[in-house]
Amino acid sequence: MATEVPERLVIGPKEGVTYPLTVTYCGNCSMPLEYCEYYPDYEKCKQWLEKNLPAEFERMKMGAAGTGDGGASGTGPASNATGEAADGDETKKPQKRGGKGIMKTKKAKDDTPKKVCLSRSARGKRKSVTVVTGLATFDIDLKLAAKFFGTKFACGSSVTGDDEIVIQGDVKDELFDIIPEKWPEIDEDFIDDLGDQKR
Ligand SMILES: [Zn+2]
Repeated sequence: MATEVPERLVIGPKEGVTYPLTVTYCGNCSMPLEYCEYYPDYEKCKQWLEKNLPAEFERMKMGAAGTGDGGASGTGPASNATGEAADGDETKKPQKRGGKGIMKTKKAKDDTPKKVCLSRSARGKRKSVTVVTGLATFDIDLKLAAKFFGTKFACGSSVTGDDEIVIQGDVKDELFDIIPEKWPEIDEDFIDDLGDQKR
């Protein structure tokens, strides 16, 4: 086992550092500022910093270039209120550094690629329906969309799932024109043709 201690973990006064150390916590992820970069939502952290602690934000941008000891972030002028509590915390339970921040992940919705999928599926021998999924990834109100399709095609159309609309009749080809027309943010390239699907 190596006994070497990384320089930044060495306990004791360091040159050029003012004591007592204070730790500034990020308002976005609740972690000490130097941990922000490991947080999945680092961009938001930066935004928060820029807004609330512009001085630290500038430092961070510089720090990215690599000054090495980016560690203790307490010397900034803006770090005051939260500093004291932090010191106490760290001596009592050294292993915990506001862990909840790291567990927070983005909502699944944001990860889902934006895409609308159209497919046709047989209903009985002659009838088919058109299934539209993915409208919700564009934040479109499914109920309104179903109603719109119903009116447009003069046929039954209803919301059948979390992000699924079933239109009575084969209107798949028309949808490729109608959807971008109705919702300009959905380019035709975002619409996938899944062909005939068995359900
Ligand atoms: Zn942060």
